[in-house]
Amino acid sequence: MHIPDSATTFHQPRDVTVELLRRLIKSIPIEKLEDVSGVFGLLTAHSRSVQRTAFTILHRFIPQAQEQVSFDVALSKTSVSLPDELISLLLETPTMEMVNEAYGDDKVWTTIRAYLLSWKVVFDHFTNASLPVQEFYTTNIKENEVLIPLLEFTFDFLQKSHGKIVDASKIDVQNFEPDQSENAERETQWLLVHLYYLCLRHLANMTKNWWIDTKKRIKGPVESWTEKHISPLVSGDALQGVEDWISTQDPNEERALTLKISPKTAEIIASIPVDEESPPVSISISLPPAYPLHPALVVGRSRVLVDEKKWKNWLLTIQGVIMFANGNLVDGLLAFRRNVQGALKGQSECAICYSVISTDMQTPNKRCATCKNTFHSVCLFRWFKSSNQSTCPLCRNNFVYV
Ligand SMILES: [Zn+2]
Ligand SMILES: [Zn+2]
Repeated sequence: MHIPDSATTFHQPRDVTVELLRRLIKSIPIEKLEDVSGVFGLLTAHSRSVQRTAFTILHRFIPQAQEQVSFDVALSKTSVSLPDELISLLLETPTMEMVNEAYGDDKVWTTIRAYLLSWKVVFDHFTNASLPVQEFYTTNIKENEVLIPLLEFTFDFLQKSHGKIVDASKIDVQNFEPDQSENAERETQWLLVHLYYLCLRHLANMTKNWWIDTKKRIKGPVESWTEKHISPLVSGDALQGVEDWISTQDPNEERALTLKISPKTAEIIASIPVDEESPPVSISISLPPAYPLHPALVVGRSRVLVDEKKWKNWLLTIQGVIMFANGNLVDGLLAFRRNVQGALKGQSECAICYSVISTDMQTPNKRCATCKNTFHSVCLFRWFKSSNQSTCPLCRNNFVYV
């Protein structure tokens, strides 16, 4: 498909043709499309209809392809990455100087839109992708250092005078449709707010780290604006994810988790029966108002099976698991359950964190040859790093693996 990219942003015969093409493409069954790599470049065309057409194709194709990608990655144990053609579109971040020029020139708006639509297509990759595949994509974004420029531009653009950020209460934060806004500025606002929501959903840790390091001038306003407009939606999505997951679990299974999910207080109470005599062992996970700029909090409600010290470490580990998994609450619940099961079976736990499950969901598999205690790899390496030597944390002999 060759679409002429003339310098003019408005070119009626071309735009009419492209619009016709777009409608035709919409009716093609998606399975018939095999390679869309040639379409990424069309996002940068200085024509709204060409951009919209390219976006329509990618937005339909990419989420549907992710199940197959996830399946292939699981089967072949290979890695996967975001397409280079797409990454290259994220390297040139728009600036406020461009925006100031844009008031007289639609070409600048379409340049900004090309960049933002490319990001939207990046997040399309996360839809239907397995957690390992999402991790590969996250690593790509991190290695190319493209997220911070997006976030910086977002709040430069959305911030009005006196540090006030644009009112998002009339914006559909969770969805975006091109060419539905009254003007280019409004559309850019919408797209930025929507992308920030997707950043908090899919790149929670990186976005949070940006916020922690951000300048004082903007830190407070971003936090309260996020709390008001974005966090309730992200928390709602997280709780819904847990609800969907638990409905696929067998409630009659041994040591089944019982959940009480309360959207109003953004809290989950998880309990597991232990024996007839004692109450079920129980924790709560609560999402703070500015979630996920502030992390999920894990609190003990009913301690059974283990002593106070171990219990405290369990709660910390579960909190760490959730953070490590980019806010995935299901992983935290699974770690809780594995620890309870492990304690009941007398399974050996890590001598550093007292958990069966580590923050990266592994069992303790490093054993000291001298004292025979077992450790998680992550816990042991953290210890080596902080103590700057490779001795066993318990017996202090040089650590020899067995
Ligand atoms: Zn450990
Ligand atoms: Zn030892």
